[in-house]
Amino acid sequence: AKYTKDAILQMAEEEDVEFIRLQFTDMFGTLKNIAVTSSQLEKALNNQCMFPGSSVEGFSDDETDLYLHPDLDSFVILPWRPQQGKVARLICDVHMADGTPYGGCTRSVLKNFLKKARKMGYYFYIGPECEFFLFQTDDNGMPTTNTLERAGYFDLGPIDMGENARRDMVLTLEDMGFEVESSYHEVAPGQHEIDFHWAKGVSAADSLMTFKFAVRTIAKRHGLHATFMPKPKTGVPGSGMHLNFALYDKEGNNVFYDENDPLKLSDKAYYFIGGLLAHIKGMSAVTNPLINSYKRLVPGYEAPVYEAWSTRVKSSLIRIPPARGSQTQIELRSPDPASNPYLALTICLAAGLDGIQKKLQPPKPVNKEVDKMTAEEKEQFHISALPSTLGEAIAELEKDGFVRKVLGEEFVQRYLEAKKAEWKEYMPQVTDWEVDKYLYRI
Ligand code: GLN
Ligand code: MG
Ligand code: MG
Ligand code: MG
Repeated sequence: AKYTKDAILQMAEEEDVEFIRLQFTDMFGTLKNIAVTSSQLEKALNNQCMFPGSSVEGFSDDETDLYLHPDLDSFVILPWRPQQGKVARLICDVHMADGTPYGGCTRSVLKNFLKKARKMGYYFYIGPECEFFLFQTDDNGMPTTNTLERAGYFDLGPIDMGENARRDMVLTLEDMGFEVESSYHEVAPGQHEIDFHWAKGVSAADSLMTFKFAVRTIAKRHGLHATFMPKPKTGVPGSGMHLNFALYDKEGNNVFYDENDPLKLSDKAYYFIGGLLAHIKGMSAVTNPLINSYKRLVPGYEAPVYEAWSTRVKSSLIRIPPARGSQTQIELRSPDPASNPYLALTICLAAGLDGIQKKLQPPKPVNKEVDKMTAEEKEQFHISALPSTLGEAIAELEKDGFVRKVLGEEFVQRYLEAKKAEWKEYMPQVTDWEVDKYLYRI
């Protein structure tokens, strides 16, 4: 561990930290926090801070007292808060009064899975690529979907106001210990991407939570609204959260690499791909959790639509980037940034590992854009499509016993209940599109 309790108490004292935010994540990936003053820090570090679980979405009504167990290594001073009377944060696990992890704590779900994987000799690293939009706010400070920007992919400023905001974001993230690999303008006006370096298991998910929090905060400072909504506008690309997976053994060898294979991929790499493909439908309600998620997964915007993998086609569901050797990785391109990163990582890694254990051979790579194939060609390659609505994804999750087992039956029941309610609320909505299309004509 990086920090001891004493080290944290001392840092807080020396840095004049006045508030500590005890952060945790609800079932649906929303960042929650309870702020305590520095006088309560010692109590918090001793796992004695509690909150009523019944008021958190997705947490059970029966859990009146839940305890926050801070991860000491997550101690960070929030750089955007005042320099006097500073604010620090600690990322916490949620535990029951008896000290055992709470079933609704998704961070604990991921930790448990990774522990099992380590026992089998597997160490995961994850490199996320998170896209988002920066939009104007209106006179009341409310977000709109307007942008004054006209810049496109990889464009250089000064055309783009968002450029300044993004630079500020990158510097802030670096202040917080992130190693930012690259950041650039994405395809749509107002759309950006920031990629950070691979991180080990849980810290990758922690970083994603911190990342979204920091990006929103800095955007606001620049008078902009940052959104991670998967498809905020019709007719332009949506925002993905591609996940790059690398797997190492105890000795630090990249398990996915084999120099003797024609594609320089190991059997385990193929099986991992096979595992992802075997469960991709059942995982969708987790990796793509919103009604809106499925409006991103349509042809024409470099988002995946079909279940195929490739070493060449950039828009494939699963892509193997060119790097080999210790850098060999498998990229899954369907997840979006609305997903709970702890859950998304758990289920993706578990599916891949299941493929390794069951030696699931994937179909042949498809080095042609599936969008452009005829129905016969798709059939010939056995290519099926991802769920096209949240409704379909819900049905697939219900069918996939493996996904349900990994996340826990009780957890999945509660998750499904919420997702079904969302679908039921959406279905009878009469949309603007329908009124435009039919009112006059029919
Ligand atoms: N925005 C695309 C998606 O939805 C990805 C575009 C890209 O990174 N080339 O996944
Ligand atoms: Mg990218
Ligand atoms: Mg991108
Ligand atoms: Mg990518």
